[in-house]
Amino acid sequence: MNDYQINICHLYPDLLNLYGDTGNIICMKSRLERRGIKCEVTGLSVGDKLNAADFDLFFIGGGQDFEQDALLKDADQNKKADIRAAIDDEKVFLCICGGYQIMGQYYRTWDGKQLDFMGLIDFYTEGHEKRMIGNYMFECDALIALDNAAEIKADDLIVGFENHSGQTFLGEGIKPIGKVLSGYGNNEKAEYEGMHYKNVFGAYCHGPMLPKNPRFCDLLLQTALDRKYGRGTVALTELDDTLENNAHNYMVNRLSK
Ligand code: GLN
Repeated sequence: MNDYQINICHLYPDLLNLYGDTGNIICMKSRLERRGIKCEVTGLSVGDKLNAADFDLFFIGGGQDFEQDALLKDADQNKKADIRAAIDDEKVFLCICGGYQIMGQYYRTWDGKQLDFMGLIDFYTEGHEKRMIGNYMFECDALIALDNAAEIKADDLIVGFENHSGQTFLGEGIKPIGKVLSGYGNNEKAEYEGMHYKNVFGAYCHGPMLPKNPRFCDLLLQTALDRKYGRGTVALTELDDTLENNAHNYMVNRLSK
């Protein structure tokens, strides 16, 4: 172990955890610790006051409509102001599905219920009767930008599983994570998936997302380390990702057909 440490805040771990989303936490912690970097994870749920200064990286998983509804009051009272401060402070966020949606303005459910979300980033979600379900694949512009190459490679792509009735529409100036190559993504029309604002990433990507997309996981970890210790201070060493890359590439091939 060295002296470096990343503190992860897992928001609403008991309410927002669909399709193995908590695996993202296990994955981030393991990839840090195998490089000798300490990692502490703290779960905060309803009734817990968030102090954003305690954390470097935030994770919010997916949840059904009623679970999102159940935590809105608490989010507003105990979390929102600090989440806003953390976003402005360039802290790293990964927000999945229902956890992605609550960062936006509102969600109108498919049966007409209006849920006013935290409104921290300019996008909104509208429910439709038709659910968007299945394995899917999309480009990750932030990974493409890393190697500056003309060609998009398999490890610039993200594979996962989506299941949502909400269709998300990004406001002007809010970028997606990247173009959808297979499946739906944000909505039926846009052909793009997710949201990327400052160091906040939102996506519909369950599965969980990070274990089979190790390069994206390392992008999040490196961003958090660079922000905390200064760019170039901590370089993530190579790990043996044979299994992870096999899982990733298997799905890339399957979804490319
Ligand atoms: N309730 C939301 C929807 O169906 C989110 C579901 C999820 O997190 N998988 O759009």
